[in-house]
This record gives sequence, C-alpha cells and structure tokens, in this order.
Amino acid sequence: MGTARDIQRSKVYGWQWGMEEYNGHKLSRPQSIKYVNQMFRWHTTANIKGARGMWTPAVSFNTRLRRYSGLASHDRTKITLTDTKDIPIELWTVAHEVAHCVTPNEVCTTTGGAHGKLFMRHLIEMLIRFKVVKMSLSELEASAKAAGVKIAPRTHSLRVKRSASYL
Ligand SMILES: [Zn+2]
Repeated sequence: MGTARDIQRSKVYGWQWGMEEYNGHKLSRPQSIKYVNQMFRWHTTANIKGARGMWTPAVSFNTRLRRYSGLASHDRTKITLTDTKDIPIELWTVAHEVAHCVTPNEVCTTTGGAHGKLFMRHLIEMLIRFKVVKMSLSELEASAKAAGVKIAPRTHSLRVKRSASYL
C-alpha cells in the first residue's frame, strides 16, 4: 500500500513551533520513556480487556541528529528522540511521536497523510490529557484551526471509538 501525501505537514509544524508550550517542558531520557509508555497505554488500552499483544514503542536517543527533534519509524514500533545540547527532549515532541505510533498507516492514507486529520486528533488528545498545554480542549482545537490545520472530529479518535468516553 502506498503512502498518502503528507499534505498538512508544514502547517502542523508551523502551528507547533508557534506555541509557547512547544519549548516548555524538557524531559530527561528516563522521563521521556515513561511518558511514551503512559501515553501509548492511555491511548490504546483504555477500557480494553486483555490488551496484551499490543506493542509499546521502543525508544532510542540520537545525540547527533540535529534536523529533527523526533522520529517515529514507518512500522510505528520505534521512536527516536533527539537529545542534544541544542535540542533537548520536549514533552510535546514525545506526544507528537506517540501520536504517529497510534495512528495506523492505512488510516493516514484516507485522512491526509502522516500529519493528517486523525493524527492531529490523537496529538491534541495527548496534549490535553498529559497537560502539555494549559489550554482547554476547545482552545487548543481553535489554535490549530487558526493555523490552517485540519483535525478529525472528537468522535473519530480511535481511543474514543474503543472506550466510548471522551477525555
Ligand atoms: Zn511528525
């Protein structure tokens, strides 16, 4: 299956980089691993009985790569976080990469690519749930929309579909 064009990627980055909180919560390596696990479990196993068999992304650190703050592997099983003097690990980046890991590739092809609408819904949920931003959910949605970033409706979240509850 081919990869859909990542049509709103630059808009998503523009929105993130313009947010005060994007550089607001630095993490140590152990803290970042803890957040990856907590975020992933919160998204995937909420109210699922016997969610065994679901993977938790493996986290590694890059001390040389300077171009990206984080990367999620295409198979969604690995996260690489840049950890350098210039680019320390940020909580927002962790949420961003986990949002990639919980958004299936096959869904990305119908929702605007890797940084498409469903990715954005999952990212926004994490930013609120893990208090990366101090805004309300509606305020955060409005800020993304004002930057031209499209977001899937709240009910389209795969977490919400599984757990039938919202945040
Ligand atoms: Zn990304």
